[in-house]
Amino acid sequence: MQINTFLETLRFRQDQRSSGIGTVQNYHFTFFPGSYGYSVVPYFTLPLNEPITSDWITLLQKALDAFDIVVKNENDVLILVVNHSLAFMKPAEALRLSQALEKTAGYLKENNFTQPQLCSICGQSGCDAYDYAHGVHRPCHRACLPEKPDSGTLSHPEPLPAEDLGARILSVILSISLSIVFSIPAIVAAIYYPVFYTFLLIFIPLGGILGTKWGRTNVNSRTFRDLNIQSYFLGIALMAWRLNLAIAAQGGIGTYFAHFANLGASLLDFAVGSLAITAGMALFRALLPVRKL
Ligand SMILES: [Zn+2]
Repeated sequence: MQINTFLETLRFRQDQRSSGIGTVQNYHFTFFPGSYGYSVVPYFTLPLNEPITSDWITLLQKALDAFDIVVKNENDVLILVVNHSLAFMKPAEALRLSQALEKTAGYLKENNFTQPQLCSICGQSGCDAYDYAHGVHRPCHRACLPEKPDSGTLSHPEPLPAEDLGARILSVILSISLSIVFSIPAIVAAIYYPVFYTFLLIFIPLGGILGTKWGRTNVNSRTFRDLNIQSYFLGIALMAWRLNLAIAAQGGIGTYFAHFANLGASLLDFAVGSLAITAGMALFRALLPVRKL
């Protein structure tokens, strides 16, 4: 996984270098790619005001064992080393790491840990930037930075934009409307050329995916679950409507299913239709990259 994709998945902001910074429950975590054994892995660091005891490290280590994270303390900087290669990291793994960071922040909060607020260069308050050095972002004044020309900068903590409710509503409306529009070929075929119509259900997920994309909402695994439900719901409703037409044309459910071939054809329609929707989801999924910012 590319570093920028990794940072986006974690909702971190990227620094000028390959490092990044993210806020989890008001704690500012630095990310940087570091080496561990033979691979490049994610490191997370955060400077703390209070001394970090070895007992506390043991406690946190236990909580993070399940995430393959090694916890360390260097001069009151908490360091989390993730034992997973960045290059081979899958989106699901990166998402799991955000849970590990949430868990860490929860532990920090429970134990009343705080982070330095004063400028790391002049010691005064009112910071408006971050100074990145030795794998740690520390608050500082932008004005203080030229004295340290080799340090990176990043504007001072602003919470990441929350999910935009307007974009979410627009996405749902667009997604449902376009799914309906994209089911028109299947509806037309169902009337004039029914042998063929179930294949055209493949376009229903495409409509939903394009609608979500154009609505510009955050995209995560939940989005795809919702799109799946929406597509199957529409597709199955359409097939039920088509079956009802066929039954009516032959004078009722009794006479329709008296022909064994009709039963077979209906089952085949439902099977092909469901497959077409599944295929559509898989085929067009790439049009909607996971975007959480
Ligand atoms: Zn300063």
